[in-house]
Amino acid sequence: MADERINEAFDPDAILEVRNIRKCFPIKKTFTGKVTQELVAVDNVSFKLYPGETLGIVGESGCGKTTLGRTILKLHPATSGQIIFEGQDITNLKSSEMREIRKKMQIIFQDPYSSLPPRLTVGGILSEPVKVHKIVPDNLTKQYVLDLMEKCGLRDYYYERYPHEFSGGQRQRICIARALSVKPKLVICDEPVSALDVSIQAQIINLLKQMQKDLNLTYVFISHDLSVVKFISDKIGVMYLGSMVEFGSKTDIFDNPLHPYTKALFSAIPQPDPDVKMERIVLKGDIPSPANPPKGCRFHTRCPHAMDICKEVPPEYKDYGNGHCAACHLLD
Ligand code: SF4
Repeated sequence: MADERINEAFDPDAILEVRNIRKCFPIKKTFTGKVTQELVAVDNVSFKLYPGETLGIVGESGCGKTTLGRTILKLHPATSGQIIFEGQDITNLKSSEMREIRKKMQIIFQDPYSSLPPRLTVGGILSEPVKVHKIVPDNLTKQYVLDLMEKCGLRDYYYERYPHEFSGGQRQRICIARALSVKPKLVICDEPVSALDVSIQAQIINLLKQMQKDLNLTYVFISHDLSVVKFISDKIGVMYLGSMVEFGSKTDIFDNPLHPYTKALFSAIPQPDPDVKMERIVLKGDIPSPANPPKGCRFHTRCPHAMDICKEVPPEYKDYGNGHCAACHLLD
């Protein structure tokens, strides 16, 4: 399957195409350096994303969503598979060849406290990437940065201030401004609001939405908060133990979830209407170790519908119409 897809033509309309991407980390080596055990953090994940769309990636901690985001950005080299950005296969590009592409692909990290350099002022933090990537002539950099700060809800006198003088929400605005300073096309948002208070979360999500509308940005939005993902996403991918178990449009995934894991996740979303009764599906046990994943369907140790076949044969990931894909024997 992987080899067949490698020869398939790229979709000219997609901004990002991920094909059978796999990322393994060695965890045991012999003294000669031969890898004897590895951890499969991302296993055979594929999807397409078009300009202006937001893909929400959900799943429990340790399911591989952050590793997937970093592998797309080539912060971790992919073990196998293909990453196609704007019609170009970037999987095996060298760092020097990635330089031009990197400014089009940016990331916003989860923790706004540790992701800003403490010794630089806001002006310094935002000017640096603008100068490195020559976004505007040097004499116009300050005005460009001040305009960007205004768009991101930062006052102009913050230019001379240092990160420790700001609250979490303001710091995340600075991180967003830094990511947008190089005019990217794709932004990986890695849990960008999970370290913030609920009231601030809404402001940051609205800022991200506004910027997407103004600049036609494409987002990969990684989060474990399903309500936030529902609000911001057009498409949703559900990950479990490194694999994409379900993928589809927001409407398909929320209105008609196919995979038992997705159903269990969604049953835990609090309902604002007290008259709406949701049957909570409580999964037993912990997520197994990705260093030693179960045979067959990886979810079988916790699935309330597991059958004998699930313990032996991995289910095929299939399209059940309209790009709504899932991997489960129950659907065969
Ligand atoms: Fe459950 Fe079997 Fe479907 Fe896996 S394949 S999700 S164990 S029913």
